[in-house]
Amino acid sequence: MTVTTSRGLAWAPLAEVDPELWMAIEGERERQRWKLELIASENYVFRAVMEAQGTWLTNKYAEGLPGKRYYGGCEYVDVAERLAQERALALFPGAEHVNVQPHSGAQANMAAYLAVLDHGDRIMGLSLAHGGHLTHGSPVNFSGKWFEVHSYGVEPGSEVLDYDAVERAAREVRPAMLVAGASAYPRTLDFERLAAIAHGVGAVLFVDMAHIAGLIAAGLHPSPFPHADIVTTTTHKTLRGPRGGLVFSRADLSPELKARYPKLAKTTLAAAIDKSVFPGVQGGPLMHVIAAKAVALLLAATPEYREDQRRTVQNAQLLAASLRERGARLVSGGTDTHLMLVDVTPLGVTGREAEALLDAVGITVNKNAIPFDANPPNIASGIRVGTPAVTTRGMGASEMREIGELIVAAIAGRADPVARDRIADAVREICARFPVPGLPET
Ligand SMILES: *Cc1c(COP(=O)(O)O)cnc(C)c1O
Repeated sequence: MTVTTSRGLAWAPLAEVDPELWMAIEGERERQRWKLELIASENYVFRAVMEAQGTWLTNKYAEGLPGKRYYGGCEYVDVAERLAQERALALFPGAEHVNVQPHSGAQANMAAYLAVLDHGDRIMGLSLAHGGHLTHGSPVNFSGKWFEVHSYGVEPGSEVLDYDAVERAAREVRPAMLVAGASAYPRTLDFERLAAIAHGVGAVLFVDMAHIAGLIAAGLHPSPFPHADIVTTTTHKTLRGPRGGLVFSRADLSPELKARYPKLAKTTLAAAIDKSVFPGVQGGPLMHVIAAKAVALLLAATPEYREDQRRTVQNAQLLAASLRERGARLVSGGTDTHLMLVDVTPLGVTGREAEALLDAVGITVNKNAIPFDANPPNIASGIRVGTPAVTTRGMGASEMREIGELIVAAIAGRADPVARDRIADAVREICARFPVPGLPET
């Protein structure tokens, strides 16, 4: 290695000290610039979010909470964390407490469970096969290993939740916690009803709003506040912030509900959540990421962001219509949110095949099981398609129509290399017109 700076390796630029890694980072920049990102959980962060995350706040240890740290020198990171807390609570009216330290959505969920539950307690969440998340009780995840898991699902036929059925199941199971929220459910969730169901059986309602937090912030989906007792989210999906999580909660549970949870006998729910994040499941918080969360939460309160979320939902409806008109089947018939589940079997392929065919033309999606799927999960009958990333790039109605057309054409023309090249060119042409915010052009 020839490093040009006289001050040694510690001062040398990345491209110089590690060209092999730098090539991969550059490759990823080009991929993001020249492909159509339709993965529903992805987005492009605000430029200011990227800036905040790239700062020297990464150097600081700050175990504990603002004003109550285990390390000196926290006066500036305290400001960053307090801003993140204040803005999170302001963005979601009705939330009483927040911890902004979780490193990810999964860790936010782990903290939520551990604040109130004991090993072996009963939880009830949406089944993974019907759109739930791994952390809602899958046997391969800690949630499935530590708790006794009962799942609810969507109804055959309508493919939507029937709350009367959820209520009957909850009465039978009597879970200690009802878990709501999803990674692949395209319809509105009724949190008020879910709270009535949970509280009716003496259970805590835990809402994981990871996918729809941005929609909720913009008033486009009903809020889980003040109905849910604990609410978690990721910050990097519709919220357009850095990768990470947040845990919100009530200051405390109602006395009747609280009596069921020995862990809360001598503490409040808010204090239990904070302790569960640190020292329960994490060590030092990522202060540069918390700073980036603060920026994202500030920007999410702007009219520009609300308009972006409105267009995200509108684009999802337009894309769903375009796909449906061309022979794809939409699970539940459509979408109320930023994402849709597309049954691709009427087009003659499996989800895995569709994902590969689309990848070959520069359209990125993920294969996804559909409810009551006849195929195993690694093959799947569907793809999950979301509009947050393309909307952040500024795409609108005419692009959604065209993307729907290109998706179906790429699948229908799978035996035709000429068609494939034409579709790939069309994808690049759309990308050329829409630069990615925050991504340098060269
Ligand atoms: C994405 C997601 C998570 C996990 O977030 P990570 O940051 O990937 O750990 C948890 N719950 C739901 C509903 C999600 O969609």
